Amino acid sequence: MFWDKKMETLKPADLQVLQLKRLKKTLRSVQSVEFYRKQFVNAGIATSDIKTLEDLQKVPFTRKQDLRDGYPFGFFAVPMRKIVRIHTTSGTTGKPTVVGYTRQDLDTWARLIARNMTMIGIGKDDVFQNMVNYGMFTGGLGFHYGAEMIGMTVIPSATGNTRRQIEMIRDFKVTAIHCTPSYAMHLSEVAEEMGETLDSLKTGIFGAEPWSDTMRNTLEKRLGLTAYDSYGLSELFGPGVAFECPERDGLHIWHDSYLVEIINPKTGERLSDGERGELVVTPLVKEAMPLLRYRTGDVTYLMEDGCICGRYKKIARITGRSDDMLIIRGINVFPSQIEHVLLRIPEVGNQFIVYIDRINHLDEMTVEVEVNRSHFSGELADLARIQKKVVKELHDTLELRTTVKLVEPGSLPRFEGKAKRVIDRRGGI
Ligand code: ADP
Ligand code: ZN
Repeated sequence: MFWDKKMETLKPADLQVLQLKRLKKTLRSVQSVEFYRKQFVNAGIATSDIKTLEDLQKVPFTRKQDLRDGYPFGFFAVPMRKIVRIHTTSGTTGKPTVVGYTRQDLDTWARLIARNMTMIGIGKDDVFQNMVNYGMFTGGLGFHYGAEMIGMTVIPSATGNTRRQIEMIRDFKVTAIHCTPSYAMHLSEVAEEMGETLDSLKTGIFGAEPWSDTMRNTLEKRLGLTAYDSYGLSELFGPGVAFECPERDGLHIWHDSYLVEIINPKTGERLSDGERGELVVTPLVKEAMPLLRYRTGDVTYLMEDGCICGRYKKIARITGRSDDMLIIRGINVFPSQIEHVLLRIPEVGNQFIVYIDRINHLDEMTVEVEVNRSHFSGELADLARIQKKVVKELHDTLELRTTVKLVEPGSLPRFEGKAKRVIDRRGGI
């Protein structure tokens, strides 16, 4: 076994002892990070003031913006020679958030994923096609190593070329897949067009974006599999933070590895079980980049009733964000990033509107932006050049293909007060 199975069903008192021990270790290791040393000084507290799990509330939150300010390696608590991998995720403006892993982190992370997959009964006898990005995003390599650890036959197909993906599922008799729920919808449609029934499929692991139970039912029917929700974020290793068990009613979050709080995002006050708010996590097993009270921005609640499987307390499926982050094809996009890119391009103005649609089950983003008259010759060819440039710059920053529409200067609405720059037309999820 790749983890201590007893951990999953520890009695609350024993779990707390373990959490406190790990929290104390984490508190010691964050002291090598300047940001935390300053946080403690500013809050007038010392590590020794945190004697109980409750005392953690004295510690200020860590936000995504703080990580961005520490770009690139400001949050690493170990020397660079101990870092063996780097991933990045979208920041709120131009710069990404960087996450680092030691060898031990990679092992811990793979074990967490292995544990999730074992929980839903997949393993050595399964052929697993991992249809997510293998680059800087954590979903690809994260699942890859977890699946290999438990001896699955892994197909690192990554994204794209849906017909080829379907042929592989058919020819290699794939039993389990991992992708975003919207890509799974697309896959099911293409399979239908191709007349492929994909009979070998049994298990679908879907995550990286919110999806509903209606979508689950559709996917299960169309692909003939059982669909599980998988949750995670790069700052907490990546996927593997919380996962559905066969009950598929809420996600088990691994409390031995992640200390969970739910807060009111406006006041920062801690909420009780059953109350919906923002998920705040203190990871307890991270070496390269320990964090304290990290605000995930994700909205959920701790479920009061235990699960009949006997594992830890669950969180409800994520229903949305407490900030303005958008999730487009599983990629995080902040409106401020788009603004940042546009501001760099002299040929366009700073007024813009973003439309998000779901076409053939895939998210499509259209950015409308005004041309800057002083940089525009009036020639049609010039318009095409500017448009191409904006598409490219947006792609370079967001890693996302967008449609760009250039409009007349002064034609977009001006806002008094808070601008409404994003029009999400995807409807309910
Ligand atoms: P990932 O590659 O898993 O998307 P990121 O760090 O890029 O990792 O993005 C993490 C964010 O994605 C989360 O904070 C959350 O908003 C969203 N997310 C991930 N998994 C889910 C899920 N199962 N349900 C809803 N949102 C999710
Ligand atoms: Zn359960």
